[in-house]
Amino acid sequence: MAAGTALREPGLLPETRVAFSTRWQPQTVTLPLNSAVSLVISNRSDDWHLFALGDTTALRDQNLIHRLMPDLRKDYPNTRLSEPGSSVSLPWRFDVAGKFELRCVRAEHQQQETPLLIVVPKAPR
Ligand SMILES: [Zn+2]
Repeated sequence: MAAGTALREPGLLPETRVAFSTRWQPQTVTLPLNSAVSLVISNRSDDWHLFALGDTTALRDQNLIHRLMPDLRKDYPNTRLSEPGSSVSLPWRFDVAGKFELRCVRAEHQQQETPLLIVVPKAPR
């Protein structure tokens, strides 16, 4: 996944909290390069989602997988299954600069739901 590194045993990380209802709150998150955070995602909608973090290419591939297998509810290192009214966390190190998205890859939601934009600026030289 080109957006950075999923952390397997992250320990205690600073939390970055985002919430999804019909749109993201906030809609953009900026994180320093090499920051390790726990992305805490609150689902304030009345439906389940499969949120995936990645760059455009990775998410396009993941969209395709879920269109081919719409019942797939598997969690990958960069995804979290999100039930209504619950919070899930995604520990992540943003060790690549760029613009990334956190978006729902559930087949029937791909076209409808907006992404959360995650900006990781280049380190100053
Ligand atoms: Zn969704």
